Amino acid sequence: MKKMLVLPLLLCVVTLFSQNEKQDEIMLAKIRDEGLNRSQVMDIAFYLTDANGPRLMQSPGYFKAANWAKTKLTSWGLQHVALEPWGQWGKGWELERFYFALTAPYYKPLIGFPKTFSTGTHGPEHAPVVLLNATDSTGLLAYKGKLRNKIVLLVRNDSLPLGFGPDANRYTDEQLKELAAYDPRAGVSRASAVKNEPVIRLLTAAELLKMAKDFAREEGALCMLSTSTRNSDGTVFVQNGTAYSPETPETFNDVAVSYEDYMTIQRLLQHKIPVEIDLEIKTKIYAEDQQGYNVIGEIPGRDKKLKDQLVMIGGHLDSWQGATGATDNAAGSAVMMEVMRILKTVGFKPRRSIRIALWGGEETGLHGSENYVRNHFMDTTTRKYNAAGDELSLYLNLDNGTGKIRGIYLQGNEAAKPVFQKWFEPFHDLGAGTLTLRNTGGTDFLSFDAIGLPGFQFIQDPMEYGSRTHHSNMDTYDHLSAEDLKQASTIIASFVYDAAQAEEKVPRKN
Ligand SMILES: [Zn+2]
Repeated sequence: MKKMLVLPLLLCVVTLFSQNEKQDEIMLAKIRDEGLNRSQVMDIAFYLTDANGPRLMQSPGYFKAANWAKTKLTSWGLQHVALEPWGQWGKGWELERFYFALTAPYYKPLIGFPKTFSTGTHGPEHAPVVLLNATDSTGLLAYKGKLRNKIVLLVRNDSLPLGFGPDANRYTDEQLKELAAYDPRAGVSRASAVKNEPVIRLLTAAELLKMAKDFAREEGALCMLSTSTRNSDGTVFVQNGTAYSPETPETFNDVAVSYEDYMTIQRLLQHKIPVEIDLEIKTKIYAEDQQGYNVIGEIPGRDKKLKDQLVMIGGHLDSWQGATGATDNAAGSAVMMEVMRILKTVGFKPRRSIRIALWGGEETGLHGSENYVRNHFMDTTTRKYNAAGDELSLYLNLDNGTGKIRGIYLQGNEAAKPVFQKWFEPFHDLGAGTLTLRNTGGTDFLSFDAIGLPGFQFIQDPMEYGSRTHHSNMDTYDHLSAEDLKQASTIIASFVYDAAQAEEKVPRKN
């Protein structure tokens, strides 16, 4: 009797299991076909960059892009699509006009970009330039009373290293092996793989520059110029002129200049040849709505038991002002939007709910994601995750430029390793599959990871990120690689499918 019952039951389970497997196979093939052969990721990227302009947080450009994304996500059939406020953020700023040229000893247009919250000039100005030949606060005092309405720069004692290395590169097999072999118990890895990450300026130089800038402002100077050896070959890295503050930011005209132009001015002044500049900066502050916003959209889950559980994906939508933030991070935003489009197009009806978040305020300190996690997933008294946080299966982030996915940073979560290993299996032919216990940082998954929620960032080929595009005036659509972004969209769409259908949530680290 017992035997007779067990056999049909077993058959039933086996049939169901293989039916599900078959269904998964069909859907994953559809996702791959849609993602690789009918991709819209570059079109999405075009609207976020060329068509929109820079997306500095809280600027009109940010809201234009956010509203465009909202309309697009809605048109694909996502639900609960909204610009979701997270609380106080602060004022917006936008550059409306800029003119910057050498007029003495000869005429030459100069390469420069105003830093955020530069106040602006009173229309076109013409000003002599003063070189501060100082290495400390005492040295600065020699210029007391001499800087009113002058354009000021601080003396530099470096020279331009010639660019023998390639601008762009991909991870080699050896570098990926090194990442995969990383053992957190063995201490800090000196992986050569991280070489291409952004260079951090020496604190002492930054402190001196800040001191000189404060001094110039107090002395009534018109504008401060600054540069670094990275600002060469037409590339200028430009971001904030003042630290983020929800109150009125401390302001002054502060222009990031190409290294070559900066040093030309310095050499002329060191040779006692007077330098004059024509300068006009027009900026606008936006103070009406000071709440911060993320763009949110959802594909609701269909499984009675699992629909309250959540699979999230995201990337930040805000950018710096020197260009259109193509690799940082229209790339990640476009990929995540494309993931949702692919999933809707193939008719995926997920068991768990799937949510996309395009974060605001990342560039000044992960504000959008941090506040989202606090508002949705955190118990404010225990400062741990709440019931909704408990229902979160996974958060996947993309924000390391245009490079294709090579693997994933496990953030020390060994339990998640076999899960991702399996999900990567169909993508070895696309160059992806490295799992490293090494941690990475600097972007929005950290807001989840900080309270033990499973948030992950993918390993991406560095491409020209550290050398050329990250926070520079060259972060434009032309530096996006279509093939890489298609690969990333396809892999993430498949991961979301896997996560939404799996019997279990993604395991968390202890
Ligand atoms: Zn970024």
